[in-house]
Amino acid sequence: MAAFGTEFMPTMAQSHYQNGLWTRPTIVPLNTLQLHPGAHVLHYASTCFEGLKAFRHQDGSVHIFRLPANIARMQQSSRLLGMPEPDAQLLEQMIIDLLKQYLDKVPEPPGSMYIRPTHIGTEATIGKAAAPTSESLLYVLLSPVGDYFAGGAKPLRLLLETENMRCAAHMGIIKGGGNYASALPHILQAQREHKADQVLFCPGGDVQETGAANFLLIDGNEVITRSLDSSFLHGITRDSILTLAADLGMSVSERELSVEELIERAAKPHCEAALSGTAAVLTPVGTLLYKGCEIQVGTGQLGPTTERLRSALNAVQWGQSPDRHGWLTKV
Ligand SMILES: *Cc1c(COP(=O)(O)O)cnc(C)c1O
Repeated sequence: MAAFGTEFMPTMAQSHYQNGLWTRPTIVPLNTLQLHPGAHVLHYASTCFEGLKAFRHQDGSVHIFRLPANIARMQQSSRLLGMPEPDAQLLEQMIIDLLKQYLDKVPEPPGSMYIRPTHIGTEATIGKAAAPTSESLLYVLLSPVGDYFAGGAKPLRLLLETENMRCAAHMGIIKGGGNYASALPHILQAQREHKADQVLFCPGGDVQETGAANFLLIDGNEVITRSLDSSFLHGITRDSILTLAADLGMSVSERELSVEELIERAAKPHCEAALSGTAAVLTPVGTLLYKGCEIQVGTGQLGPTTERLRSALNAVQWGQSPDRHGWLTKV
């Protein structure tokens, strides 16, 4: 299968926001996109997106995982960027109508159809550096994806970064391109200088998240992760995993976690750590890099609790265990 995110279905759903209204959604070829070179998004980064997945069940039916939560987050990102807030029903209809055209293309588990709603400011103006776009385009892309873990889930090496932040603190809950651009120099430096896979941002020693995924520490029967605030992205996988952990009788601690506590706990042989996100589900963390030291997390390998939580999530997504929390939307 092609590398994650490089294969696209040939059409997309789109709706324009003009004169205070959303146009009736249409499904058009990908190359329909026309953008004025002075479009607001290209200069002032009026852009946000979502990432969610549709799964094929044993009986052939297709189900979208946590659609309303992703739509609500897209509305929030748009609002915080001063962009028009997409109507929830409109966006839901766009996603479902598009997906219905490609039901036969939704891969079998462990593959899935990755859904990428995107919202960009299209007003042709380079004069609005300090003003929001008055026009925008909402579109939805589909990309079939394979097994992220094909060839085994190699535990990640994370560089703990206590000086720099991933993005401006007031932008953290926006799922938008600007924040990725802001994180990239730190990630590139960590890869170059420390052979790290990712950066775990811990501004002022407060463990937060990585460049594109939330961080969970698993110490025996307890899952510890940073309590939500507006400085980092509120992952829907994070929320799902915490819910399933509680269902399995684990204790869930959403609170502040200092770098010192993380390092002290991580070194214990039974400890596990993982990153959560839609693309990677739950990926084990094997090594933490801090102040020139390499700290192995537990055994340094994929641990049993990470495996168990990932399987529990996959089982709901794949229709193999009951959808107790109403997370699936049938297409
Ligand atoms: C998308 C994203 C996540 C994970 O969110 P999910 O809803 O679990 O996919 C975490 N951190 C950042 C910065 C993200 O952009």
